[in-house]
Amino acid sequence: MIKLKHLLEQGGIAKAFASEFPKKAMKANSIASKLPRHANNALHKDLIFKIPTGYWKVRNDDGGKGHYGADRGSRKHHGVDLTTTLNQQMVAPIDGIVKRRKASSTSKLDGTMIQGTGKYKGYNVYMFYTRPNAEGSKVKQGDVVSKQLALQRSNKGDYSEDVTDHTHIKITFNGKTINPTIGSGNINWIV
Ligand SMILES: [Zn+2]
Repeated sequence: MIKLKHLLEQGGIAKAFASEFPKKAMKANSIASKLPRHANNALHKDLIFKIPTGYWKVRNDDGGKGHYGADRGSRKHHGVDLTTTLNQQMVAPIDGIVKRRKASSTSKLDGTMIQGTGKYKGYNVYMFYTRPNAEGSKVKQGDVVSKQLALQRSNKGDYSEDVTDHTHIKITFNGKTINPTIGSGNINWIV
């Protein structure tokens, strides 16, 4: 806590988090910010989403790669997997209403969906696999909303031991899944 206070005083928060960003993503991000408006594929350039895990680190383990479009055998990965730790608290990327949603009818584990309200109307942000703290509650961007669940089968999850803890972030806009990748996707993210 003292360290956090110190960082706040020194304006060092951004610097503290910057080390968590992969160099490549930072580079892509700075390139994206220099593009003219029409060249940036952000749907709503003025809308800012908050990274639910607190830092942008994409999973890459023996169980698979976590980037958008990664190979999943017969299909592609239509989300981004951000690394987490068990029981980690997730914050709401947008203002909205908290709902409980499973990734599929066969999923054992819960997922959380934030149904966007206000300027975020039309957006749904999914976080698999996390358990919502208060279903049906209205939240503001940055509020704590859900908790990371264990993913591995040895711990009642759906996956092999090769899959490290992560949250699968999926975003839809008017029902259509969009690429949420930082810097080069459709969404503008902040820590
Ligand atoms: Zn995923």
